[in-house]
Amino acid sequence: MSKHQFASWLQEDGIQLTEKQEKQFDLYYRMLVDWNKKMNLTGITDEDEVYEKHFYDSLTALFAHNFQKVKNVVDIGAGAGFPSIPIKICFPHLKVVIVDSLKKRMTFLEHLAEELDLQEVDFLHGRAEDVAHISAHREKYDVSIARAVARMSVLTELCLPFVKRGGTFLAMKGSTGLEEKEEAGKACRMIGGRWLDSYSLTLPNEKSERYILRMEKIDSTPKSYPRKPGTPSKKPLV
Ligand code: SAM
Repeated sequence: MSKHQFASWLQEDGIQLTEKQEKQFDLYYRMLVDWNKKMNLTGITDEDEVYEKHFYDSLTALFAHNFQKVKNVVDIGAGAGFPSIPIKICFPHLKVVIVDSLKKRMTFLEHLAEELDLQEVDFLHGRAEDVAHISAHREKYDVSIARAVARMSVLTELCLPFVKRGGTFLAMKGSTGLEEKEEAGKACRMIGGRWLDSYSLTLPNEKSERYILRMEKIDSTPKSYPRKPGTPSKKPLV
């Protein structure tokens, strides 16, 4: 997907990029590829592929969920900024918090936010299992979101504790999305969630399958969750 195709696909989906936003994506691409020479940020460096598999793919969250009324978003395990930085570029009103356990990637993101002139983006270096127990972050977000971090049963324990009651957890998944949803039923109930729906799509050129699973927070998360770092993935709630 060329950057021109990117803009016109988004326009068809009702997202009209301004010149400033197009420039921000362009600079994001250049910084990603440049920094990737010094640290491992992404396996994808071809411009058309980055536009489709990182930028467009991140923005598919906007098709599954209405972000107009969302005030704050936490992105768990954002790596090189996906999906929250593309979402922030399109919706500058959002307050975004990024949590990632890899310090080097946070350094990249801090420079990126400065260069792209993104306001109200905060970076927390740490594990979701720990950050979710800090009162300033526990049950404080309208939306928590994650792409390519862990299987759904594990991810639910990492992400849902951040969401306030009535808020939403969005999990961006590949072809195993529905299977993972089945597996995560118990985790969903135990952490205080209820399944809302799943949105499916295929990437326009590359044609791979995607699922965006939405979970609503209906009850407070019991204090014992998430369990200590590493336990959610070693002993998933299945
Ligand atoms: N979400 C990005 C994307 O879609 O390109 C990055 C995906 S990368 C495969 C997974 C990221 O999650 C890594 O940057 C890793 O450091 C982070 N991560 C994994 N487990 C985590 C945890 N328990 N707490 C915080 N970050 C975590």
